[in-house]
Amino acid sequence: MKTKMLLNYCFQFSVVLIIASFIGLTGCSKENSTKAPENQTQQAEKKDAGDLSIVRDKNVNVDSLDQDKDGYLYQCGMDYDVISDKPGTCLKCGMQLKKVSVADAKKNLDAYSNNE
Ligand SMILES: [Zn+2]
Repeated sequence: MKTKMLLNYCFQFSVVLIIASFIGLTGCSKENSTKAPENQTQQAEKKDAGDLSIVRDKNVNVDSLDQDKDGYLYQCGMDYDVISDKPGTCLKCGMQLKKVSVADAKKNLDAYSNNE
């Protein structure tokens, strides 16, 4: 009788353990799955906020973007409307901005605008 009760207790205890670990696991994975995208969007938002100014309007005066007047700008090879006076990365595709002359930047932007 005593051993039966002990076995029963053990069984109940292990069931509780299994349930507890199951809840713990799902709780953990839930936490992870919600945490990861949050961090990603936070990083993306930060990045966007920092680099948003280098996304130019199609009708932007490209000459005026060359603030240090060295005749060169940094432009994304994929997104020609992303132009900066300083080296950096494109916030749209993450590519390193290419150093281009002001004239080329203007040419690229014109072609890009016409394609859209
Ligand atoms: Zn790009």
